Amino acid sequence: MRPCLERLQDLSECITDVAVIGAGPAGAATAIFLARQGYDVTLLDRALFPRPKPCGEYLTPGAVRLLRDELGVLPALLAQGAAWLTQERVVPHGGRCFEGPTSALACPRVVMDQVLRDRAEECGVRVREGFAARKIIWNSGAVAGVVGTGGAGESETVRARVTAGADGTHSLLARALGVIRPLPRLHRLALVGHFPAADDDPPAVTMHLPRDRSDACCGVGAACGPGRTRNINIVVPASEASLMAGRREDYFRERLRRSFPEVWELVQGAAPSGPLQSVGCFGHHTARASQDGAVLVGDAATFIHPFTGEGVFFALCGAQLAAEAIDVALRQGDVSRRTLSHYDAARRRDLMPRYRLCDAVQHIVHSPPLLAWAAERLRRSASLTEIVLQTVGDIARPTDLFSLPTLRLALGTG
Ligand SMILES: Cc1cc2nc3c(=O)[nH]c(=O)nc-3n(C[C@H](O)[C@H](O)[C@H](O)COP(=O)(O)OP(=O)(O)OC[C@H]3O[C@@H](n4cnc5c(N)ncnc54)[C@H](O)[C@@H]3O)c2cc1C
Repeated sequence: MRPCLERLQDLSECITDVAVIGAGPAGAATAIFLARQGYDVTLLDRALFPRPKPCGEYLTPGAVRLLRDELGVLPALLAQGAAWLTQERVVPHGGRCFEGPTSALACPRVVMDQVLRDRAEECGVRVREGFAARKIIWNSGAVAGVVGTGGAGESETVRARVTAGADGTHSLLARALGVIRPLPRLHRLALVGHFPAADDDPPAVTMHLPRDRSDACCGVGAACGPGRTRNINIVVPASEASLMAGRREDYFRERLRRSFPEVWELVQGAAPSGPLQSVGCFGHHTARASQDGAVLVGDAATFIHPFTGEGVFFALCGAQLAAEAIDVALRQGDVSRRTLSHYDAARRRDLMPRYRLCDAVQHIVHSPPLLAWAAERLRRSASLTEIVLQTVGDIARPTDLFSLPTLRLALGTG
């Protein structure tokens, strides 16, 4: 049943099975999975696509598998300049570099998000760009849709049996549900630039740790996209906001020079191919990701440090789990928290161990003795390196990493 397509375009009121707020990877994938099940889905985003999204633009092997096998968009991404990576590296300043093979991908977000948005439309999703969600509609304590404003400021109402909040770190729906649990130690600011790549740049992604031991990191991507640029991003404590206000590029170069001299050498004579993008990444998780008539997906549900580059995997995998739970709820005609909480159970089972592992990696990389110990163990054991890379690459399960045989390898007794 598609009762409201024409009326929605008339900017009045719409009724739909599922309203998805946010058309990033979490929202577009949720919409695709549900439209394939035959539901009437409305995907809403305040931006006009293609739109930029500050990101390291690295896709873990696990994210690549979902994009290929579950969403069918890998050929379109490769056709538009996504590039295979063969190596990933962590470079502690002054310490020995750790590196290993990978089957990850570098892909500009401006490409990937457009491809996923278009795929949603091909699957029958009604896509509404330029719709800024402003207010959640409540009905007897349950979420019943969203009110937003269109480009000309006119009010639009989308009533839905289920509303999915995939609207990123500052999610309106997560705030309205009152479920956000801030993680202040992860409050960060990031600056992202695209710089011209050299012909002989390796197909590798590198994470640099700072020479001044400050709480920062810097990612360098591989050449990709139509312009063959490479992504260079720094993540720094949120307390440095005043230092970059009104002078992003100067701050970016100064910070590279001070903390990441190897990266500064790469960019010192080069101009970025556009303005640097900045973003506040306020680490948070949520008390729960489902409520009566609503679910939260992607960064709206949990946002952690981008160091391991797993955000897109979490968004796509979470979308799959959310769509499964919404499908069951709609088929049963019961969209209460009791039924939708199957989604929370699935997140606890499939995603929480990965979030914890990502957190553990943060502790290790910011502790020089722990990092030196871990790098040494990894250098000594190719099997250990493989299992670590497969786990952080979202292919192997975290339980494989914490198994007895792996612990023996880590302790050098296996
Ligand atoms: C510096 C940095 C580097 C990163 N590097 C990587 C990396 O290399 N690899 C990786 O996998 N992940 C990385 N991440 C994380 C990754 O970017 C996110 O996890 C991912 O984008 C989450 O997808 P999402 O769909 O949940 O949210 P988003 O991609 O943020 O999409 C949210 C959408 O919601 C829309 N929206 C927001 N509010 C409203 C509203 N009120 N009304 C309507 N629409 C709204 C926005 O316009 C946007 O399109 C990085 C993050 C940062 C900050």
